[in-house]
Amino acid sequence: TAQIIDGKAQAEALRAAVAGEVARLKADHGFVPGLAVVLVGEDPASKVYVSSKAKQTVEVGMNSIEHKLDVATTEADLLALIGKLNADPAVDGILVQLPLPKHIDSAKVLEAIAPDKDVDGFHVVNVGKLATGQWSLVPCTPYGSMILLRATLGKLAGKEAVVVGRSNIVGKPMAQLLLKANCTVTIAHSRTQDLPAVCRRADILVAAVGIPEFVKGDWVKPGATVIDVGINRVPAPEKGEGKTKLVGDVDYAAAAEVAGAITPVPGGVGPMTIATLLGNTLIAACQRRGLAAPAYFAEIDRDLFR
Ligand code: NAD
Repeated sequence: TAQIIDGKAQAEALRAAVAGEVARLKADHGFVPGLAVVLVGEDPASKVYVSSKAKQTVEVGMNSIEHKLDVATTEADLLALIGKLNADPAVDGILVQLPLPKHIDSAKVLEAIAPDKDVDGFHVVNVGKLATGQWSLVPCTPYGSMILLRATLGKLAGKEAVVVGRSNIVGKPMAQLLLKANCTVTIAHSRTQDLPAVCRRADILVAAVGIPEFVKGDWVKPGATVIDVGINRVPAPEKGEGKTKLVGDVDYAAAAEVAGAITPVPGGVGPMTIATLLGNTLIAACQRRGLAAPAYFAEIDRDLFR
């Protein structure tokens, strides 16, 4: 059966590296990186994400700047806040928690963030730079997935990679990063024909679909590395009435019989997302001040992308 890829341990190592670099920057250069997180409204899942982001930011020694705004906040007020954060030298990273209330145009808000503080990597400038092979901040979940692949496989060059899903936040940037790592990349989606056969080609199979246990065990090529990005809450009557549990986009039990290595849910890609967010904030802080990229991240980049 498959090696279980330990995202919790990898995320911990990443956070420890960030903490070390933050301490070094403070000692050598006299500044502390700051991450501003903006939450609009009361979405319960978003509130949980925002508070764990803030907690982990502080744990690695960085400053956390939280802005919790009323659900009735206007687009103009939100844009004004982003303008202030863009201009604030104490702010190195800006993250606007999605989804935003319907009366606010998310695209407009994301494009208002200064690209060099765009630690989510969603701004068109960063998306365009990634697509044209220039250095950029890259989206956290795909970046975390790449770090797990490096830990599992080392070099990825020449591997056949299939990404199921083409969202702007996961599927597309994941495909770009795999391409940058010299994989042969296929992006599959809701209109793909004979998806099981396409998936069976993959040495690296990434599932980012948003449908519980969608990818079946017999879609996995024997020995393949499976990265399950999905986080789906489903009923778990076996745990008691009204109970729920988290499952991925892959039928884990069946896929683990066939795969060479696989990420569990929870405990796989999930924990990497906040760790890479902290990493991006550190990288942005260095980049903006003309300092070299922190060694730990430079090494990751070199291993994956050279
Ligand atoms: P999305 O809904 O924006 O995109 C889903 C993609 O799946 C679409 O591009 C669509 O073409 C494709 N798809 C839908 N039905 C399909 C089908 N029948 N066959 C093939 N492809 C199909 O979702 P997303 O934002 O990319 O998120 C994907 C999953 O990843 C979700 O479960 C989400 O919760 C999870 N997620 C996890 C993290 C994390 O931190 N680990 C971060 C973001 C998203």
